[in-house]
Amino acid sequence: MGNLAGRYAIVTGAGKGIGAAIAKRILADHVSGIALLDYDGKLVEKTAAELDPSAERVLAITCDVSKADQVDEAVQAALKRFGAIDILVNNAGITRDKMFHKMDRADWEAVLSINLGGPYNLCHVVVPHMRERKYGRIVNISSTSAFGNAGQANYAASKAALIGFTKTLAREGGPKNITANCIAPGFINTDMFQAIPKEIIAEYLKTIPLGRLGEPSEIASAVSFLASDDASFVSGQVLIVSGAANT
Ligand code: NAP
Repeated sequence: MGNLAGRYAIVTGAGKGIGAAIAKRILADHVSGIALLDYDGKLVEKTAAELDPSAERVLAITCDVSKADQVDEAVQAALKRFGAIDILVNNAGITRDKMFHKMDRADWEAVLSINLGGPYNLCHVVVPHMRERKYGRIVNISSTSAFGNAGQANYAASKAALIGFTKTLAREGGPKNITANCIAPGFINTDMFQAIPKEIIAEYLKTIPLGRLGEPSEIASAVSFLASDDASFVSGQVLIVSGAANT
C-alpha cells in the first residue's frame, strides 16, 4: 500500500465500479480526506458510508460533472471540509454505443460533455488551486477505446481527446510540481462493461492475452501509484491496464 497521509483527493464517478474501487484503495493508502462525486446522490452516500462509516475521511457529494456550476459547488464543498486538494481523479464516464451512421448528435454530445467536459470542469477549478500550492496529482481515466473501437466513435473521441488534454496539463503543470497522467483500462468487470451484449463480450474475451476481464481494484492500484510520490517524476503518460489487449 502507498502512503497518501496528509493528502486530500477528489474522485468523480465514485458511486460504483472503478471509481468506488479507486476510493477504497486511496483510503487504504491512508489518504487524509476524500470527496466522492457522483450524479447518483443516494448511491454515492451509500458507498461513502460503506467505505468510512465514521465519515471522518469521506465526503459524499451529489454532482453531475458535466455541469460547471455543480462542479464549482462540489469543489468548494471539498475545500471547505478538507482545506486542500492534492489529488484529482477524473473517472466519471458514460457510453452511448452505436455505429457512427446511426449515432445522432444527442449521443455524441452526451458522451463528450461528461467524458471530456467533466474533466475540463474539474480541472478548470482545481488546477489554479494546485498551481497556487505547487503540488498536484491528476489522474484521468481514458480507455483503450481511445485507439478506436467500432460502435464507439463518440466514446473513442472523448477518451482520445482526454489523452491530449492530459499531456498538455502535464507540460503546463510541470513547473508547478503538478503531474498529470492517464490510465487506459481495457475490459474491466463493471456495470458499464456488462451493459455490452453477451456475444460481443465473448468476442472481446478472446482478445485478452491474460484470458480474463480486469477487476476495478486492478485499475485502482495503478491510480494509487500515479497519485503517490512514488510517481513524482512520471507525468504526461498513458498507462494501459488491459491484460495486454489493444497494446
Ligand atoms: P460505471 O460502473 O458505469 O460507473 C461510472 C460511475 O460514474 C457511476 O457511478 C455513474 O453514475 C457515474 N457517472 C456517470 N456520469 C456521471 C456524471 N455526469 N457526473 C457524475 N458521475 C457520473 O463505469 P466504470 O466501468 O466504473 O467506468 C469508470 C471509468 O472507467 C469511465 O470513465 C469509463 O469510461 C472508464 N473505463 C471503463 C472500462 C470498463 O471496461 N468498465 C474500460 C475503459 C475505461 P450512475 O451510476 O448514476 O450512472
